[in-house]
Amino acid sequence: MTRIDLHCHSTASDGTLTPSELVRAGAAAGLDVMAITDHDTTGGWAEAAAARPAGLTLVRGAELSCRWYGVEPAIPLHLLAYLFDPEEPQLAADLARLRADREQRAEKIVELLRADGVDISWPEVSGYAAGGSVGRPHIAQALIRAGLVRTTSEAFASRWLGARYFVPKADLDVFEALRAVRAAGGVAVFAHPNATVRGRIVPDKLVVELAAAGLFGLEADHEDHSPQQRAHVRSLAGELGLVVTGSSDFHGTHKTVKLGAFTTDPAEYGKIVTAATGVSVLG
Ligand code: AMP
Ligand code: FE
Ligand code: FE
Ligand code: ZN
Repeated sequence: MTRIDLHCHSTASDGTLTPSELVRAGAAAGLDVMAITDHDTTGGWAEAAAARPAGLTLVRGAELSCRWYGVEPAIPLHLLAYLFDPEEPQLAADLARLRADREQRAEKIVELLRADGVDISWPEVSGYAAGGSVGRPHIAQALIRAGLVRTTSEAFASRWLGARYFVPKADLDVFEALRAVRAAGGVAVFAHPNATVRGRIVPDKLVVELAAAGLFGLEADHEDHSPQQRAHVRSLAGELGLVVTGSSDFHGTHKTVKLGAFTTDPAEYGKIVTAATGVSVLG
């Protein structure tokens, strides 16, 4: 049986395993194929490629912070982009802008917390991100260190990073992101599209529009989807001719989910590989 996990994070964003540790952990977990999909960065690609164990196929990707501006207020969403050319100027500039905004936003959140007497600092949080894409989990780490919460999840409660100290990111217009990924030879899959546990979700009619604009697939099997949501996403993908993926969205110890907890069917994976023209899979 081929085990394929197409959504994993490393320390290049908010995962807790370095890219080398991630690919080794993937092989140890019995994966045959794994994708590295850090938030808004390809910064982990080279290290993951260099450390890739024989027998593990590596798919290079990223998870793009997007927003749908069709409603007010706009709804944030994540696009998984696979096998795109990281040198393509538009997409590279978009990713750089997203990362720069993540820094400013994290600094703002730290300032809000400090203004309320919380003893954390930007150098501390920035240190946890260690040059990677900064995210709220890094601020959560500081809140844990300060003894204010025990877990990352607790830090996402409404009294902390979930609402009271929430500052939005800039994000890319989802249609522009889709265009940029395609122009870079990549394939785009909508990550956890029905995950109401994360907040508002987009209507099916947007998925129809995205499919018409070149979206390639939908992530159905994900821990943040209920069985009903998985079935709904799967049937929507069927109607629209989109591929269906399943993945762990592994984040190391920032989350409890294990590598390979959800997997992608080999035939669906094959369609992604065939459609992409940016970079090849490794392995
Ligand atoms: P950001 O990208 O900075 O907005 O932070 C969102 C990230 O935080 C997601 O990609 C997850 O990795 C993580 N996250 C979101 N909600 C939770 C939660 N309830 N518990 C733990 N981690 C979470
Ligand atoms: Fe994350
Ligand atoms: Fe995501
Ligand atoms: Zn993710």
